[in-house]
Amino acid sequence: MFAVVGAGFSGSVIARQLAEAGFKVTVFESRNHVAGNCFTERHETGVMKHVYGPHIFHTQHQEVWDFINRFGEMVPYVHKVKATVQGEIFTLPINLNTINKFFGLDLSEEEAQQFLASKIDSSISDPVTFVDQALRFVGPELYEAFFAGYTRKQWGVDPLDLPASILARLPVRYNDDESYFSHPYQGIPRNGYTPIVEAILEHVNISVLLGTEFDPQDVKKYDHTFWTGPLDAFFKYEFGNLGYRTLDFAEEVHDGDFQGCAVMNFPDEDIPITRITEHKHFAHWENHDQTVIYRESSRLCEEGDIPYYPIRLVKEMDVLEKYLKVAGEQTNVSFLGRLGTYRYLDMDVTIKEALELAAQVIKSANHGQSVKPF
Ligand code: UDP
Repeated sequence: MFAVVGAGFSGSVIARQLAEAGFKVTVFESRNHVAGNCFTERHETGVMKHVYGPHIFHTQHQEVWDFINRFGEMVPYVHKVKATVQGEIFTLPINLNTINKFFGLDLSEEEAQQFLASKIDSSISDPVTFVDQALRFVGPELYEAFFAGYTRKQWGVDPLDLPASILARLPVRYNDDESYFSHPYQGIPRNGYTPIVEAILEHVNISVLLGTEFDPQDVKKYDHTFWTGPLDAFFKYEFGNLGYRTLDFAEEVHDGDFQGCAVMNFPDEDIPITRITEHKHFAHWENHDQTVIYRESSRLCEEGDIPYYPIRLVKEMDVLEKYLKVAGEQTNVSFLGRLGTYRYLDMDVTIKEALELAAQVIKSANHGQSVKPF
């Protein structure tokens, strides 16, 4: 008997793969619903709401795309983001239009490339911090306008203390492609994420216990436990807290269309929110007279808050190392997912890693070995 802790994508996918291989799995979920922070539900206006903030499914991994499509229909969707800077609206990620509008120019693709090359610091070959990445990527003016304020609000720290990998999520384009993501597969589930996760968990070998906390001491009752909750929580914060950011959403209902796009970012530091999400634009095939928006802001995650983002401060890495060391020493527990591994993972990567871990577990179990593959 296996225990899976958490019914988000990581927990659900590993539970499904193990169940299909013939293992009995109990899934423990502390909330009263599945799907973790991907949870969606219909608002009273009829709009499909991304309850814990915007989730856009995008991947470059064929096996992940095939997997999710087994459990629900994904409708093609191309995510586009706008940013309001000093009252003007720009396209994000930074593309040719953003560069031209911001600098008041009318450059061609090639000229824009040369222009930005004169702004960036090409001596930074191995960026460590967010600022290194920004200066080598877009130069100081665009960094200040689009990234410095947003990042301080979103992460609550100086960008000098954040790793380069956070900004490396975003591309820069010299053409007028407005797609936020570069992956070949992008989509939004026709009926939201919740029925997809429910379908993943719908298997005769899986029992799901909602509203049920799992005490880490109970691992001894199971052949193996797959923990997708916060890494530090498993060890009762023995080495101190790992930092997470949590989000607050102020919901409003309006008539018609509020902002004409799904996500509007607000990088200016004097505006306290980071972005406004208008949920109905994700389900572009639906029509609703009213609209539901979230004004989103970020703050340090405290006891009782929902963790969203692992902060991974450069200077906190030694605490993380301690947790990773003891996690690696657990013979009957595996850690996975955004919280379980304390990494800023997207949905598709959590699915990919859960599929890979399941494959290794099944292989080890078939050879009569301990199921802990690493
Ligand atoms: N970012 C920014 N300005 C923006 C959008 C993003 O500075 O207008 C930075 C910010 O640090 C953010 C990171 O880029 O945390 C990653 O952005 P992404 O849109 O991938 O964040 P998510 O949707 O996962 O919150």
